[in-house]
Amino acid sequence: MTAATTTAARLFRGTATEGRSEDELKELVRHVGAELELAPAEVIIEWAVATFGERFAVTSSMGDAVLAHLASKVAPGTDVVFLDTGYHFAETIGTRDAVEATLPVNLLTITPKQTVAEQDAAYGKDLYARDPDLCCALRKVAPLNEALQQYDAWATGLRRDETHNRVIAPVVGWDDKKRKVKVSPLARWTAEDVDRYIAENGVLVNPLVYDGYPSIGCWPCTKRVPPGEDPRSGRWAGTGKTECGIHA
Ligand code: SF4
Repeated sequence: MTAATTTAARLFRGTATEGRSEDELKELVRHVGAELELAPAEVIIEWAVATFGERFAVTSSMGDAVLAHLASKVAPGTDVVFLDTGYHFAETIGTRDAVEATLPVNLLTITPKQTVAEQDAAYGKDLYARDPDLCCALRKVAPLNEALQQYDAWATGLRRDETHNRVIAPVVGWDDKKRKVKVSPLARWTAEDVDRYIAENGVLVNPLVYDGYPSIGCWPCTKRVPPGEDPRSGRWAGTGKTECGIHA
């Protein structure tokens, strides 16, 4: 038994599956956050599934299927939430479809309250070009917050090496805005770790990654990035905006 497995076995003892208060969830984070800091991603997900049961979901933007693949290995049937903003590249929707067809996960596609046409009618055409913060609030933050209501904990694929804002992202932390436990199993991974996992496990990758888009969001706000430049520099390029608000 590895040290990580021993740690996981100890942490899993006495866990319940649902019905925790906010104070109990915060206490849980205080208790295990540091212990899981150095654990492998599989162990972190295993802990989350054992601790929260059906009140745990993985989210994926379908840049690749690494997190969904890890969850499918550790706990087949795990909910994987994909937010369809209405502005995705066709390749991103195709990756979502391929994940749903090939991995044993419960893929849930959620959408904003308004279609793009309804938003255009209410706020004017191409809100993303005039007020991307409001557009992200309507099409990303609000629908995800609503979808996560049924969970106590959610997992994201964010990594500390992605942006300055993310360098202190905990592996298991308290998301004060969502009032939920936020699990980042890949927080300590580097881009090289991701590439290695993809190669060794034949993981699905959004084809745009190989076409100059190392970080993929909505098509109006995502540009190609020249080789060697900051992988996230193609997101909201030239606006000063670096995050959609989901992780703020
Ligand atoms: S990334 Fe752009 S198009 Fe997508 S929700 Fe945000 S502002 Fe709107």
